[in-house]
Amino acid sequence: MTVRIFDFLTQQRPATPCLVVDLDVVESNYRELERLLPLARIYYAVKANPAPEILACLARLGAYFDAASAGEVDLCLAAGAMPERISFGNTIKKQRDIAYAYERGVRLFAFDSDAELDKLAEAAPGAGVFCRILMDCDGADWPLSRKFGCTPTMAAALMLRARERGLDPCGLSFHIGSQQTSSKPWDVAVRAVARLSKRLSADGLDLRMINLGGGFPAPYRQAAPTSIADHAAAMMTAMTRHFGNDLPEMVIEPGRVLAGNAGVIQAEVVLISRKSYTDRKRWVYLDIGKFGGLAETMDESIKYPIQTGRDGGDVGPVILAGPTCDSADILYEKAHYLMPLDLQVGDKVEILSAGAYTSSYASVGFNGFGPLKTYCI
Ligand SMILES: *Cc1c(COP(=O)(O)O)cnc(C)c1O
Repeated sequence: MTVRIFDFLTQQRPATPCLVVDLDVVESNYRELERLLPLARIYYAVKANPAPEILACLARLGAYFDAASAGEVDLCLAAGAMPERISFGNTIKKQRDIAYAYERGVRLFAFDSDAELDKLAEAAPGAGVFCRILMDCDGADWPLSRKFGCTPTMAAALMLRARERGLDPCGLSFHIGSQQTSSKPWDVAVRAVARLSKRLSADGLDLRMINLGGGFPAPYRQAAPTSIADHAAAMMTAMTRHFGNDLPEMVIEPGRVLAGNAGVIQAEVVLISRKSYTDRKRWVYLDIGKFGGLAETMDESIKYPIQTGRDGGDVGPVILAGPTCDSADILYEKAHYLMPLDLQVGDKVEILSAGAYTSSYASVGFNGFGPLKTYCI
């Protein structure tokens, strides 16, 4: 937790649960990526945290944006992003949303299928399009596999068809999986797109751009075994190894790494109980759960560090759960969380590194609990 977030929480005492995002951290994360990857253009993956203040902060810093819907395109434009700086990166779009973005000046779109290509040719004539390649996401704590991308053979055919349809097939993309804990996938992925790129060159189609997606990890309960610097180095090594001196433009789409460690959720302990008088584990129920923004605790995938005002003394095992009347609303049962033995109902707890993939996942009002309020400071 930063000093600024600590001061905000102690002075303002906002109602819980709430997310507090320190924009200085977002800025320093952005500058760090710029420094590590000076050859890459940075498109912020808006879905990670679409707070207008974050988008405005990144727009001011010169960032580009990866939007997934007409709504996200609007958010970027409202935050001051030029339409030339917005990529409509979702491979699953309604044709009228493609037309909507195109009317507003967006000229870069992702696709991975014939049917999507048809929509783009209709609704975004002449626009730049890039084809997403299927990746297995080994090593990722939050995989983005299976649902997106197509095989390289299919991508080659799609790119040639895009040219026939009057589009500008400018590049290829992939995503190695979110919260990627290994730097190995960069080489595998870059080798695949480099091969495909050569194959397309032979067909007279020279690509200008490779979109390497996101995947850079944020620090959670365990520090990611691969640092951002290691990821950046592995990415550059793979690019020079497989493309040689003739590097295409590089695009990256970081989300988690820019917003994750910039945010802290403050929550309150609603109930501490046991299922029997001999139960060794306490159940600790917070005022936030899976439906309040902690969706990435699904399958206990993302393990947030959690701190309390009583840390430092004796601790015991707990099962952590949310406040709603849905038994799926259990945060951690297998992940062996320990909390102070003197933890009390009414205590505040802080869920750290919670700036990405939280607030926008919160339900609008399941069980009467409102969406997660965000304060950007
Ligand atoms: C979600 C997403 C990202 C962001 O991934 P992170 O792992 O958060 O960096 C980037 N690109 C696309 C296409 C995405 O869907």
